[in-house]
Amino acid sequence: MKMPIPDYLQEILDHVRDEDGGEVADYIPELAEADPDRLAIALCTASGHVYEAGPDADVEYTIQSISKPFVFALALQELGPEAVLDVVGLEPSGEAFNELSLDDNDKRPVNPMINAGAIAVNQLINGEDSSVEDRVEKIRDLFSRLAGRELHIDAELSASELEGADRNLSIAHMLRSYDIIKDDAHDAVLSYTHQCSTLVTTRDLSVMSATLANGGTQPVTGERILSAEACRLTLAVMSSAGMYDGAGRWMAGVGIPAKSGVAGGLIGTLPGQLGIATFSPRLDTQGNSVRGVKIFEYLSRDMGLHLMSSDQHSVPGVRSITRDGDQTIIRLQGTINFTAAENILHQLTTHNLGGEELVLDVSRVTSFNRMGRRMVKEGLRLLREGGFECAIYDPEGVVTDLEFSDGTTADTVDSF
Ligand code: GLN
Repeated sequence: MKMPIPDYLQEILDHVRDEDGGEVADYIPELAEADPDRLAIALCTASGHVYEAGPDADVEYTIQSISKPFVFALALQELGPEAVLDVVGLEPSGEAFNELSLDDNDKRPVNPMINAGAIAVNQLINGEDSSVEDRVEKIRDLFSRLAGRELHIDAELSASELEGADRNLSIAHMLRSYDIIKDDAHDAVLSYTHQCSTLVTTRDLSVMSATLANGGTQPVTGERILSAEACRLTLAVMSSAGMYDGAGRWMAGVGIPAKSGVAGGLIGTLPGQLGIATFSPRLDTQGNSVRGVKIFEYLSRDMGLHLMSSDQHSVPGVRSITRDGDQTIIRLQGTINFTAAENILHQLTTHNLGGEELVLDVSRVTSFNRMGRRMVKEGLRLLREGGFECAIYDPEGVVTDLEFSDGTTADTVDSF
């Protein structure tokens, strides 16, 4: 059986392909030259299965602000929350990413997702006395382990950003004047800019995001990289501040902790389930990718991913796969959402299914969400195409709609 997920992702890209609103970022000269039409999506499950679509899924671009949550998580892990929260707050700012602002009361940057907060957090890595080089290397090493491959820094892009970094330099001076950072302002911005200039692909970002979803264990390599507590705190801040002044609307409409970058990347992290990444360089006025936001809005609705929706349970999906003579019996259980359905399809593709007859027992399924139902039915249709005689045992009628994507109908049995 062939996994239907890449085709589904491709359909989503087709949905937004013609949307040409927004502009590529041009305050960093090298970014202004980016191809605005690039488009990619990748998705990585907490079990480490990666799916991607789009001609540009393996194109490298700079991580930019998507670096911020990961460096925040590293700082939390290295120093503990108390020391980190001494220099940065946890409140949404409702301001632009490069705003020159501090909390009125305690004079800290309001959160680690805006530049002021991210520059302060960058300075915590590898200790106060670290050289820029060692600090950047530590961050590059973290990103590489999160992506599961050696990543590199685009030094040219970093230099091009530094030439016009007056805004970030003034933020660093402001941080120094309040004793939040100790380094020379130029060095602080150099270190932060290098962090932002790490080259990643959309696939890398989906795996990095899935590591946060997975409580810090990289789901493909199996390496434990971050603590579960650091991931939880990071996701909390992403949900309230990851989309800057668009964060409230984003959480209401999409409902997935997220972080955008000005090179056009966008990640979404669904705790316990998924990391998703998109790439499309044209940005809206808040600096978020126009088509990326559209893709996430669509995905959230179609796949039932909104964190505040009631069908948000992660369950194994498959209760058992057994064999009785010529019959293979697949018993499902629990709530079948996208992640449960992916797990079911994955087991069906890897399991050596014997016999000629297949019964899908859904009597223990409490509910299907729309995407879960669609995927399980598609799996059944493909198994039928592959030569199995398939039937559903559904005494409670939880499947509700037995029509397959090709217009034919699933067979049912009353007993087996
Ligand atoms: N390096 C960029 C900056 O500091 C990152 C901003 C972003 O991606 N939103 O301006």
